[in-house]
Amino acid sequence: MIDTVHANDPSAVIEADRAHVWHHLTQHKPFETVDPRIIVEGRGMRVWDIKGKEYLDAVSGGVWTVNVGYGRESIVRAIADQLMKLNYFAQSAGSIPGSIFAQRLIDKMPGMSRVYYCNSGSEANEKAFKMIRQIAYKRYGGKKYKILYRERDYHGSTLAAMSAGGQDERNVQYGPFAPGFVRVPHCLEYRRHEQEGAPSEHYGEWAADQIEQVILREGPDTVGGLCLEPVTAGGGVITPPDGYWEKVQEICRKYDILLHIDEVVCGLGRTGTWFGYQHYGIQPDFVTMAKGVASGYAAIACCVTTEAVFEMFKDDPSDKLGYFRDISTFGGCTAGPAAAIENMRIIEDENLLENTRKMGERLMNNLHELMSRHRVIGDVRGKGLFCGAELVADRSTKEPVEEAKVAAVVAECAAQGVIIGASNRSVPGRNNVLCLSPALIATPDDIDEITTAMDRALTKVFS
Ligand code: PMP
Repeated sequence: MIDTVHANDPSAVIEADRAHVWHHLTQHKPFETVDPRIIVEGRGMRVWDIKGKEYLDAVSGGVWTVNVGYGRESIVRAIADQLMKLNYFAQSAGSIPGSIFAQRLIDKMPGMSRVYYCNSGSEANEKAFKMIRQIAYKRYGGKKYKILYRERDYHGSTLAAMSAGGQDERNVQYGPFAPGFVRVPHCLEYRRHEQEGAPSEHYGEWAADQIEQVILREGPDTVGGLCLEPVTAGGGVITPPDGYWEKVQEICRKYDILLHIDEVVCGLGRTGTWFGYQHYGIQPDFVTMAKGVASGYAAIACCVTTEAVFEMFKDDPSDKLGYFRDISTFGGCTAGPAAAIENMRIIEDENLLENTRKMGERLMNNLHELMSRHRVIGDVRGKGLFCGAELVADRSTKEPVEEAKVAAVVAECAAQGVIIGASNRSVPGRNNVLCLSPALIATPDDIDEITTAMDRALTKVFS
């Protein structure tokens, strides 16, 4: 039940929020007539709002974050114990939890070697971009400075991360952006008809070839890095087509381009393996992660590199500019790695990777069953507990449904007590993908409750 200590005067909290809080990703005009949602408590898969309404959270804290679920006392204790010993010291010195977590993390990432701590997914990506830029100076006289990113991928909210942002609708009115970031085409097979020359067979190889075309156009000696999400999240839950990743790796090797995988969403179990890229047998040079690293119990992000990358920054001790001259103040907070160690232990001891694979299969089966009855579902995609259902007005043209109807489905699910997401766009400017990413502890009943709510909501909105 809801803990009313935090909400003894709900209307005062709501009014304070309405008067002074600027919510993320939110158009505030509706709050003039509708109360903002204020979540006050969470247990397992469930959260409660300030008015006492209970929800099954099918999006792990709204944005794929609370991987091990709410109310984990052991994580809270690990953080408290650590904070009593040492809350902070700049990460130019080491820390006990920082060292232990780095060791355990690298154990899960064969071929990787070094962990650079910071606070957010955007920041972790910026670290990788800066390292790639600096390598261009150190190895290639500054020439190999360009970083490729993909249409529909998202890498963060800071300006350089937005310069690598593949969702134009998020970037409108914030330019100009940083130079040296170059876009490559998306790999969403369902929408290949919108891509000129896309074949109906071997689409994955073709989509990877498009990256090579961009490299050749830009000049391979100017391209230093390629940054991709293993499964695109906010851009429409885009699972890579067969043959894609093998070819991408081959292209990176061919042109000496560093491969940076953005695991901010997929990292720490979301897709049923420790990291999303591990489904595809590839070996990255950089892996960035944030959300699931400590499941939102503390802010922590990591930019992980190979030893070969690290070595490039220590090759000349007399070169006073040659090291990575970067800092993240709160990368020295010890709460993050203390929480991350316990978060990882929970995923291991409770077999959550296996559960994610099993429950992900159930979720996909349920979604396919919904698709067989609701013509508005044009495609379902997913990997592990990370799934999307794309809504179209017409299955043959694949014209997206009106955005207001998608919002109505989300609102109807919430009214039934299930929070799903829809801030995922596979078409520029349109929210038309329903997004599901429940915590990795989901049970068969939870999965069925989510899809039952969707079934009712789709029926109500579209019939
Ligand atoms: N990369 C991806 C793939 C993301 O989905 C996000 C956040 N949604 C980020 C980076 C940015 O993370 P943060 O909001 O922690 O800066």
